Amino acid sequence: LLLAYEPAKRLARVHVGLAENFVAIRALFSVLDTPPSVTELDDKPPITFSRGNIELDEVYFAYRAKEPVVRGVSLTVEHGKRLALVGPSGGGKSTLLSLIQRFYDVQKGAIRVDGQDIRNVSVNSLRHHISFVSQDVFLFSGSVRDNIRIGRLDASDEEVERAARDAFAHDFIMAMPKGYDSTVGENGVQLSGGQRQRIAIARAILKNAPILLLDEATSALDSESERVIQIALDKLVQGRTTIVIAHRLSTVVHADEIAVIENGIVLERGTHGELVRKGGLYEKLYRYQFAEHHSPAA
Ligand code: ADP
Ligand code: MG
Repeated sequence: LLLAYEPAKRLARVHVGLAENFVAIRALFSVLDTPPSVTELDDKPPITFSRGNIELDEVYFAYRAKEPVVRGVSLTVEHGKRLALVGPSGGGKSTLLSLIQRFYDVQKGAIRVDGQDIRNVSVNSLRHHISFVSQDVFLFSGSVRDNIRIGRLDASDEEVERAARDAFAHDFIMAMPKGYDSTVGENGVQLSGGQRQRIAIARAILKNAPILLLDEATSALDSESERVIQIALDKLVQGRTTIVIAHRLSTVVHADEIAVIENGIVLERGTHGELVRKGGLYEKLYRYQFAEHHSPAA
């Protein structure tokens, strides 16, 4: 038994290595940030992309049987418009962004992009048109340069650096031991949440996709990071169909529409003004969560 143990351990290590490579390779072809459960062959025809209208039609989804976390959500975002998702933690907002990227398939209802059910088109062609920006972006073990270049594989070093500058990532990258050649990811330089968010923004700038899914930073950022990230994001959303999980008051106030998600359903929809007048959950969030978030730091 003891004899058998050592090779098994070595084998396990090989497997870990393979899994890492697999993840890196997969990331080269899409915007993967979470493990997908959609594993079928990508043999569907590419999406016929026109403008980037997104439609969620009575969407149901459960990670575990009989525990639905999305329970009949219908939402539409017209091309170039901005939809903000707000609501208590655990309500299903991040899950909706995963479903739109088809990391998981809906269990009832449908998600359509430009009128096409996303289950009927190639996953890669769908993700080609989507940028996903969040603090928990997937970083593979490799150089920071390559981690940004995932946004567009044929980008030159100059284009990578320019995207990093526009994402306000250049300075912290240059402060790393090997600059753009520094290794990040599991065994590399540890990045803060704000730095990861900036890597994600740089990727999205390079990718220049017409649909932007954005999970705003939740963890506390120093006010300088907060400021520059906001400048970069404000620029990035211009002209794109955007769905943003909003944690900042200015984001929701400027959204074309706000959807309040609670416990897997859309509780309220409207503009900031409409929802404040309505005096429901949004109005409470506005008074407590968003207001608090932006009161001067203690
Ligand atoms: P929000 O983004 O609104 O905070 P999430 O979409 O992250 O909500 O989560 C909705 C629910 O789904 C929560 O109860 C959460 O615990 C659960 N959940 C999220 N991701 C997973 C997962 N990968 N596996 C199982 N449950 C999950
Ligand atoms: Mg979330």
